[in-house]
Amino acid sequence: MTPVELVAPATETEALEELARGPAGSRAIVAGGTDLLFDLQGARPGPTHLVSLRRLPWRTHAWEAGGLRVGATEPLRTLEADPRLGQELPALAQAIAAVGSPALRRQATLGGNLGRSAPASDLAPALLALDAEVELVGRAGARRMSVDRFLRSSRSTALLAGELVRSVRLPEARPRSAYLWQRVRPANDISQIGLAVAFAPSPGLWRVALGGVPPRPVLAPDAARELAGDRPAAREIASAAERLAAHPALVSDRRATEEHRRRLAAVLCTRAIRTAVGEPRDPP
Ligand SMILES: Cc1cc2nc3c(=O)[nH]c(=O)nc-3n(C[C@H](O)[C@H](O)[C@H](O)COP(=O)(O)OP(=O)(O)OC[C@H]3O[C@@H](n4cnc5c(N)ncnc54)[C@H](O)[C@@H]3O)c2cc1C
Repeated sequence: MTPVELVAPATETEALEELARGPAGSRAIVAGGTDLLFDLQGARPGPTHLVSLRRLPWRTHAWEAGGLRVGATEPLRTLEADPRLGQELPALAQAIAAVGSPALRRQATLGGNLGRSAPASDLAPALLALDAEVELVGRAGARRMSVDRFLRSSRSTALLAGELVRSVRLPEARPRSAYLWQRVRPANDISQIGLAVAFAPSPGLWRVALGGVPPRPVLAPDAARELAGDRPAAREIASAAERLAAHPALVSDRRATEEHRRRLAAVLCTRAIRTAVGEPRDPP
């Protein structure tokens, strides 16, 4: 392996200056490194410098103006230790708990999960359903956009060269939300499907998002349209599940067949809405 220099700037300005140095492709950003170090194996030509974000003052979160702002480099394990997360944004708490193991979550970050833009990300569907925004920063300044606009395709995002994800913002508490997933081997596999639902009190609408589907997690507005009010009726939930099962993103790949995914989507949709509203998942 070619020797790589590790650089760890202490400020945002230094980090952005470091990213602007050298020829294109010479600098790779590293946060927790759980994806990047794996991805770099065999990369030709690889970067000459790894720009670590560990020393930046972004390893924290704050509850502000009714919502939550998470620093891009805060370890998932620190975030999930906040008891308010499970009460106010259960879908995000459940999605974080689904990522790998506690040891992995001590390293892994929200910024890295979004930066990688993996189809099977457990965090992306929860962030989509919770209407999250990313805050990006580059030498030209900062900008914000929805996670839906940020995620383009597998390993492709709206980040421009030299830009960083600085934080992720969740606009408000959404206690009626849930994230469920299905894997072949629950302990050490990635999700065949992930399903997030969230009720936004104002304007009183549900958002439904699917993960584990190529090329990226997606919103399912057709399914959400069937759900009315903060406690949808059984027939509305059944109709949402049926519409979700027809979503065009549910296709076959090496992890699951289309037919299996469509069945799972319908079952998880019903269970997730029931979980979100505090009803038994499988009523008698
Ligand atoms: C064994 C194992 C199990 C896993 N299980 C799961 C799972 O169950 N569910 C799941 O969703 N994921 C899983 N992952 C994937 C991974 O752990 C997560 O995606 C993690 O959140 C990535 O965060 P990180 O800080 O380690 O990212 P890094 O590896 O540091 O970076 C990932 C990518 O994002 C870029 N990046 C990082 N931070 C920023 C930033 N602030 N701004 C711009 N770009 C940035 C990097 O350049 C790189 O391209 C697993 C990984 C492993 C190795």
